[in-house]
Amino acid sequence: MMEALYFSPILLGLNLLIAVAIASTALWFMSRPIPGPGYWMVGMWILIAGVLLFLGFMATRNPVLNIVGNALQLAGEAVFLLGVFRFMDRSIPYWIIPVSVATIVGFNLHYWINAGNSDFLMMIYSLIAGLLPVQAVWVLLHQRSDVATRPARLLVGVCLLLYSIVTLLRAWFSADAWLSGQPYTPPNESFSYLLPYNFAIPALVMGFIGVTLMTMQRILASSRALEDELKRLATVDPLTGALNRRSFNEHFDRELHAAMRRQSPLCMALLDLDHFKDVNDSQGHQAGDEALRRFSDLCRTEARATDIFARFGGEEFVLLMPDTSLEGARTILERLLQGVSRIEVIGPQGPFGFNASAGVSVCHSGDTLDTFMHRVDKALYRAKNEGRNRVSVEP
Ligand code: GH3
Ligand code: MG
Ligand code: MG
Repeated sequence: MMEALYFSPILLGLNLLIAVAIASTALWFMSRPIPGPGYWMVGMWILIAGVLLFLGFMATRNPVLNIVGNALQLAGEAVFLLGVFRFMDRSIPYWIIPVSVATIVGFNLHYWINAGNSDFLMMIYSLIAGLLPVQAVWVLLHQRSDVATRPARLLVGVCLLLYSIVTLLRAWFSADAWLSGQPYTPPNESFSYLLPYNFAIPALVMGFIGVTLMTMQRILASSRALEDELKRLATVDPLTGALNRRSFNEHFDRELHAAMRRQSPLCMALLDLDHFKDVNDSQGHQAGDEALRRFSDLCRTEARATDIFARFGGEEFVLLMPDTSLEGARTILERLLQGVSRIEVIGPQGPFGFNASAGVSVCHSGDTLDTFMHRVDKALYRAKNEGRNRVSVEP
């Protein structure tokens, strides 16, 4: 008996399953808290427990070992498949565990009590094992969203389908043996055991490689999303959604070089809300925030796609206008300030409006951000001094 086992694919199949179970334990440990790998790990170990009990049955012919072994093998396969649903955030069909276990235990008891046909029992087992993955295959191949995991999902789907086909083929052979009344053959001599251990288990191994790749693709996709979010947070002012000062500086360098190269005028304006301290004092900070948001929204819709609009700090904003003459910039800003004066914010003390002042200048050759900004600042200071709610130009 032992010798027959040593030279049968059953032992190799078992060893392959143990290798997969160890690898799936590592996958679960390393990919936490991603949902799914825990089911794959638990499923594989249950499956192995089932195969071990089945080997125990072959050695002892104790029917209890066969019944529990069969039940555990199907339960392990089912738990593994549930991991697919868990991974894909689908509702989990837990019912497949009790249904498959109860069916095989029922037929097994009947077989042992009434001395049934072993090929018939094998057919039932293979039918259940072969049909179990169908639902998971369907879900894997039909998921439209989650593009990131698509290639690995297809791999897993195809491998499980292969497993299914081989196992259903085994059911077919068993049915044939049952109907043609072939004599009993011990498992390690029967063709219907070569089939699963030579082909179905390799398909399962490939399927496990597939779920590992699927998990890796999930991890990569989520870290990419995190990276995009971090990038956004690093460049955008959280209150107004305008660019922050740091990213404005980067844009400025680029635009300065482009303007020099093309010899086209580059204008820069500073916009500062008028008496904003009073707005905060009378309407509260939250209404002040809302005013800042509305102001920023207006500037961004009024600005052209090539303009750079940023919050420079507090209630001070900067607008960089490439390919714009000083006269053109003044016209744009005057229209913008008219728009600002029409904004109405609902505060705790009722609706209120506000104004802004702007200073603008054009880039000179040899300018740096500092020298350029100095002139723009001077223009803004003048606009404030001359009575606010106006544009002042510094050539
Ligand atoms: P001026 O017309 O001279 O610009 O007067 P001002 O009151 O606007 O000028 P000042 O620079 O003295 O005050 C700016 C105020 O802007 C002070 C501060 O309370 C307010 N402020 C700055 N940042 C924020 C913000 O993020 N939210 C709110 N609600 N208020 C802010
Ligand atoms: Mg102000
Ligand atoms: Mg200010």
